[in-house]
Amino acid sequence: MIIVPEKEIAGLISAEECFDAVEAVFAAMARGEATNFPVIREAIGHADALYGFKSGFDRAGLVLGLKSGGYWPGNAEKGLTNHQSTVVLFDADTGRAHALVGGNLLTALRTAAASAVSIKHLAREDAKVLGMVGAGHQSAFQMRAAVAQRDFERVVGWNYHPEMLPRLAETAEELGLPFEAVSLEELGAQADVIVTITSSFEAQLKDGHIRPGTHLACMGTDTKGKQEVDPAILARARVFTDEVAQSVSIGEAQHAVAAGLIAEGDITQIGAVIEGMAPGRTSVDAITLFDGTGVGLQDLAVASRAVDLARAKGVAVEIDF
Ligand code: NAD
Repeated sequence: MIIVPEKEIAGLISAEECFDAVEAVFAAMARGEATNFPVIREAIGHADALYGFKSGFDRAGLVLGLKSGGYWPGNAEKGLTNHQSTVVLFDADTGRAHALVGGNLLTALRTAAASAVSIKHLAREDAKVLGMVGAGHQSAFQMRAAVAQRDFERVVGWNYHPEMLPRLAETAEELGLPFEAVSLEELGAQADVIVTITSSFEAQLKDGHIRPGTHLACMGTDTKGKQEVDPAILARARVFTDEVAQSVSIGEAQHAVAAGLIAEGDITQIGAVIEGMAPGRTSVDAITLFDGTGVGLQDLAVASRAVDLARAKGVAVEIDF
């Protein structure tokens, strides 16, 4: 069995390699060659923790496994990340466990890769201004992955907690782009692509904020009850997602579907666009919205790539198991 410790991940796998792995597995999902299994997520009644499993099987890449982890709100006081993730991969031919991979950094990278895939396939080619809503841990990964997809000239940002905005300013500086903190009205009026990555439970971006031609990647809503944007935006937009079942139950689309503004059949799997099975952006004025709910196959795809790289670079720890 191979162990790839969390501390090795940063030196092993790049954002580009995660992008390729996520794009490929989204396409495999659309071809019916990769399946996510039902998600388990439970409050364990200890340490205020939410614990769960995301699992699946990619028959195209023969990647079988699960990501286990969750949210431990008290971890920050212990010097640990609140979100904890570990990936276990199994041999698809025998069921034997074959790899244990630290999943914290990989989760951030695979989530950013998903919104970047949506930008590649859905945003206007001439997009110049990136709008960021959210300034938490994931926001920096999101910004870095997004700017790789278009020739962005500047970044505008808004956050519910303004004291967190320096993270966006620092990340933009690292990327060599000017940054300006703006109101939500200004953000909607200026941004060609908007990434939302918050833990909000009510709509921040309102319908009137969004102008024609905008692409939104809504990445924060991954649980029942969370919400980042006005459901009326989804009614106006062409809506895409990683997985329709998750989009309507735990994703941003849960609210628009519950309100009867859109139906499940109005939502397109992004993999179908990647594979050329469904149209992506059909006009410069269309609003496109990607509901990124986060699927287990994304985790397995990047973990499997990390295992291959660890082997190739000789940093994998091998044990008899
Ligand atoms: P974080 O705790 O570091 O940051 C939270 C962000 O949400 C900050 O910008 C904060 O200001 C904002 N926020 C908090 N309360 C808010 C409120 N009441 N209204 C509006 N904004 C509020 O979290 P993070 O690690 O950056 O993750 C952000 C979100 O992304 C979380 O909801 C997380 O569950 C989700 N997430 C989604 C995926 C996916 O695949 N879709 C993957 C990982 C994380």
